[in-house]
Parts: sequence; structure tokens; C-alpha cells
Amino acid sequence: MECPYCGSERLKVLDTADSHESIRRRRECLSCGARFTTYERAVVAMPVLIKADGTREPFDREKLKRGIWNACAKRPIPALAVERLATNVERHLRALGQAEVSSRVVGDKVISELKDLDPIAYVRYAIVYLKLDDLHSVRAEIDKLLAEQAAPSVAVVDSQPAGLPLTTSER
Ligand SMILES: [Zn+2]
Repeated sequence: MECPYCGSERLKVLDTADSHESIRRRRECLSCGARFTTYERAVVAMPVLIKADGTREPFDREKLKRGIWNACAKRPIPALAVERLATNVERHLRALGQAEVSSRVVGDKVISELKDLDPIAYVRYAIVYLKLDDLHSVRAEIDKLLAEQAAPSVAVVDSQPAGLPLTTSER
């Protein structure tokens, strides 16, 4: 490693902090005296997405979030919840351990998480993703959702991780 200011390799580590996701090191350049912080994270490659037409596309977290934000427009959903959802999708993709996966894997994961997060956002996403192009199929989806909500269910608290215990109404 070299100093980002002067290029010297004479660096001293002032302190190290290990957090959940990264190791942070505060460094000082012994040549120019500049102080800066470095972060060390595990880099795990994301699989490439195979689209419906067979073309490939790199996974794009920002694009994923735009899609989620569109579904969540004007809903009382904290920005943190959208970040967490995007992170859950990334983890899910990595856990598959494959070089390429169908882009459906992303959509399926988003839709299952949105279902827990916000029913309106879920329906909006479902209309686009499941290509519900007539009122009957939209209504069928909403009826299904209402039936699930009417069943005795666990409270969905924002701070809980994904993968909440499912209600027994899942058929
Ligand atoms: Zn320097």
C-alpha cells in the first residue's frame, strides 16, 4: 500500500477497528504526515445474471434499488429497509455459489421480501414483475394477499431479519 497523497510506502498503522463487515485501519504516512483510513472487506464475486432473452448482465445493486424504490414510492418505508432488502438479495445470490444465475432469482427474492415489508409495494412490484396485465390477475394477487393477512400471523417488525417465520396459512 502507498500513501494516496505522496505515494510513499512508509506507512504506520495508528489503530485498527474490527467491525461486523470490515476492518478499519487508521494510517499515517511517515513521509508526508498525511493521515487516512483504509477499509478491508471480503470480496466475493456476484454471479452474472442471465436475462429472459439469454443475454447476460452484471448484477447492479443500484439498478435493483431503483426497481425497489419505484415499488415503494410514497410508502412509509425507511431507506434502511430498502438497503437491507438489496443486501439480502446480494447475500442470497452469493450463497448460490454459481457463476451465472437466472435474473428470475433476483425478482423472486425481491418479491418475497416485499411481501413481508409492505403490501402495496408488493402489489406494485408484482404487477410489473409477474406481468399482471389485467385487473383480474391483479385482483387475484390481492385476494391471495388478503387471505394470508387474515390468517393469524406474526407481526412483521422492520428491524427483524429476513426469513421471518411464515404464517401457517402458507399453502
Ligand atoms: Zn505521504
